[in-house]
Amino acid sequence: MMTPDSVSPGNLESRPPRRTARAAVAERFATAVAPAVQVYSRRISGTFRRLKWQVVWLLLGLYYVGPWLRWNRGPGVPDQALLIDMPGRRAYFFGIDIWPQEVYYLAGLMIIGAIGLFLVTALAGRVWCGFTCPQTVWTDIYMWVERVIEGDRNARMKLDKGPLTLNKAMKKVAKHAAWLFIAAATGGAWIMYFADAPTVVRDIFTGQASFTVYGFIGLFTTTTYVLAGWAREAVCIYMCPWPRFQGAMFDEHSLIVTYENWRGEPRGKAKRGRPVEGGGHCVDCTMCVQVCPTGVDIRKGQQMACIGCALCIDACNGIMDKMGLPRNLIAYDSNANQVARAKDKRATLRLVRPRTIIYAGVLLLVAAIMTYSLATRTRLEINVLHDRAPLFVRLSGGDIRNGYTYKVLNMAREPRAYTLTARGIEGTALSVIGQASDDPNVVTLPVKPDSVGSFRLFVRAPRASLEGKTTELNFVLTDKATGRTYEHAALFAGPGR
Ligand code: SF4
Ligand code: SF4
Repeated sequence: MMTPDSVSPGNLESRPPRRTARAAVAERFATAVAPAVQVYSRRISGTFRRLKWQVVWLLLGLYYVGPWLRWNRGPGVPDQALLIDMPGRRAYFFGIDIWPQEVYYLAGLMIIGAIGLFLVTALAGRVWCGFTCPQTVWTDIYMWVERVIEGDRNARMKLDKGPLTLNKAMKKVAKHAAWLFIAAATGGAWIMYFADAPTVVRDIFTGQASFTVYGFIGLFTTTTYVLAGWAREAVCIYMCPWPRFQGAMFDEHSLIVTYENWRGEPRGKAKRGRPVEGGGHCVDCTMCVQVCPTGVDIRKGQQMACIGCALCIDACNGIMDKMGLPRNLIAYDSNANQVARAKDKRATLRLVRPRTIIYAGVLLLVAAIMTYSLATRTRLEINVLHDRAPLFVRLSGGDIRNGYTYKVLNMAREPRAYTLTARGIEGTALSVIGQASDDPNVVTLPVKPDSVGSFRLFVRAPRASLEGKTTELNFVLTDKATGRTYEHAALFAGPGR
């Protein structure tokens, strides 16, 4: 059971006695849940570290390259593959363009993302937190920069403990300059998703970009610098709501980072190939704690501060190899398997379980609805507004006339002409202000590409054809180019019998 109290204070023996500025910032973020201490994580290599780097470079590559991808949509339309065009009120995703009226697709995407996260968490624990969360990705990069400039764990601890010298000042300035550069590149790349990338880059460097652009770059630069450089693990432990409820997605078969307590304890110092006499395989080297980016001691059990990055597995496997002991004292395994292994029973991987079936089923269903809806969506939207005052007009010949505002949104990139008829009431006649028509039963509505055509429409009907104060009427719009028809129900108001 994860509790806030179980957040590990890390390796107490090797921690500097005084708090640093970053620890003070972390403390400010804290809500008195756990003591805020500076974490000096050690460099580690291994399978999971390699995997984490691959994921980091892949995600950063996608993020920075994304705005530069082009997609030909024809003349007069942005050719940026991924673009949220605020002035044009359109979002572009390669061949798909989303209008503001279709914002439900965004909601669908968010639902898919959320259910996907539930499924992945039920299957493999906090892989999102440990490998793909932007906070983890940027913190990894920042830590790497810190290590390159200030050295590994011991060198950084020594540097922070020591007096302010020219060397220390230069290293600190270089580190923060590099952090700020990465933060600015992050903020700059984000802006490019909202404007044509080559244009916005040119404008930024020639001082021609708008105040809004500079303002947002400044905002994203500051948040990246503060969150990835200063707050780091404090974001995961104190700020992010996800660890608080992700426990609800776990069960005993979820794969998580676990410590084989039954084999590791009682821990103690040991020689190569020979565990401590009468003791377990954990040689109490504290390497698993030293590499942990959140300062967790996984040997104390599952904890909220553990982001599931698996670096402690790499660390411990390295020690086990050196000691000539079996690997995976810390492993990606399920609690059920740990219990089975402790009893010398067969461990199994149970991916198909009621909760994973439900998550996968809902995910597939929502994805199928989204795909179907996208594949069959019309490039046209109709909006009909009945005049409120007057509701109807009595004409001199005894007929009743109703007025409507008839709007056609043509999402196609070519001009379209539509014919409009009405059915449901015997003897109706249609007219549109500003248009002459030979046939009183049909009007033609031309609409420019990518725009809304708004028409003042009058419908006249003999009083004898009306059923009461309101009679149902169906407008039938036909696309002249494709022959496809679109019906829209409306009401026709009259004086009643
Ligand atoms: S790295 Fe492995 S052996 Fe070392 S303290 Fe951690 S669990 Fe024990
Ligand atoms: S305990 Fe292990 S898996 Fe959890 S955050 Fe620390 S290093 Fe990563």
